[in-house]
Amino acid sequence: MANPKFQAPRGTKDILPQEEGYWQFVHNTFTEVMGLAGFGRIQTPVFEPTELFERGVGKSSDIVRKEMYTFKDKSDNSLTLRPEGTAPVMRAYIEHGMQSWPQSVKLAYFESMYRYERPQAGRYREHWQIGAELIGEQAPFADCQVIALALRIYEKLGLQNLSLQLNSLGDEKCRPKYLKELVKYLGPHQKSLCEDCRERYKLNPLRVLDCKEDKCQAIIAESPTMLDHLCKDCHGHFKEVLEYLDELDIVYEINPRIVRGLDYYTRTLFEVWGHAGSGSALGGGGRYDKLMKEIGGPDIPAVGFGAGVERLIEELKLQKVLPPPGPRPQVFVANLGDSARKRCYKIIEHLLSEGVGAVGKLDKGSIKAQLRSADKLGVPLAVIIGQKEVFDNTAIIRDMKSGAQEVAGLNVLAKKIKRKLEIAAQPSD
Ligand code: AMP
Repeated sequence: MANPKFQAPRGTKDILPQEEGYWQFVHNTFTEVMGLAGFGRIQTPVFEPTELFERGVGKSSDIVRKEMYTFKDKSDNSLTLRPEGTAPVMRAYIEHGMQSWPQSVKLAYFESMYRYERPQAGRYREHWQIGAELIGEQAPFADCQVIALALRIYEKLGLQNLSLQLNSLGDEKCRPKYLKELVKYLGPHQKSLCEDCRERYKLNPLRVLDCKEDKCQAIIAESPTMLDHLCKDCHGHFKEVLEYLDELDIVYEINPRIVRGLDYYTRTLFEVWGHAGSGSALGGGGRYDKLMKEIGGPDIPAVGFGAGVERLIEELKLQKVLPPPGPRPQVFVANLGDSARKRCYKIIEHLLSEGVGAVGKLDKGSIKAQLRSADKLGVPLAVIIGQKEVFDNTAIIRDMKSGAQEVAGLNVLAKKIKRKLEIAAQPSD
């Protein structure tokens, strides 16, 4: 309908049945890959105390400064719709004393996120992420494990030619020194930066590095890099991560310009780019060794990733990967006349409870019209019930492709149909 009174809010979208197959595909693949690797599913509330994100994601991040859906509830508590998944998982870790669980703690989530961003291709105000956190492991193999997991999901989905971008952001020892260098370098160029970057220069100079504006790109190209300023420990950690990746034959590109939008990262940082390029990272993650402490918990390191589900689905479409078919009707039950209609209804319910997908049109349409509906649905079989069949307790099974028909007693109908469907599903040479 043109101009309906109500529409989905800007930056959100309905997911209609035609899309559902992709969502199930991503969900099932994610569940399988994570489950096999020992990651347990966690679900956290859709809203959290605002301060959790202010402290966790960081006050200078774009998310906290401009993008949060923050509101007061009726008791005057400041709450925020979850803009990202990591801080809530860390909050849950502390709250449930997961420190006393067998280590390391491995958690996975499939959740909606909310950011007040300018909607554009691949960017929504409500989007979904799959993500994982490996908590309690400082060693570089954990970084590699998380990267390999993310890549395995893409691979199991059938995506190809993706590009893994890697960087290290150092830690609290070496990063401040580098930031000083960066600010010193950017200072004289301030006037030539885009408006956003002039602000970033003051609040969070690292973010200037991943600006996509042409005029900033030229300046960034010459800037000092964190990789050249890593302290001995961070350098050693990064080197080992690369060695583990090499061991697994994982191809990567070292990219000192990726910094990502969240303030909590330390050391390893990565993004996975799809065919649409750097503008639309399919996912990314890294290490956040200080996040747990920052939100009032123990000093426990963690590494994880998050990937946008909508972007994954767009990439699947771009690469022409089709999701496997889900459950759907396989039999159309047609009736000839009033007395047959009730019987048809009973047969549909019977087939459904036997695990056979069945539908029928129980109106007074002609048999021709009903078979046309069956054709449109693409079902391989139809069941036809006339007065005679009602009387005899039988049904006609019709092969929709060949038109061949066979009569079966109702007591064996489900069994016969299942056999025919099995034969129809077998690949023909
Ligand atoms: P981030 O939490 O910013 O590290 O984002 C992780 C992933 O979520 C990104 O790589 C995107 O695939 C996806 N993503 C982030 N923001 C949005 C958005 N506004 N709309 C759709 N997907 C998004």
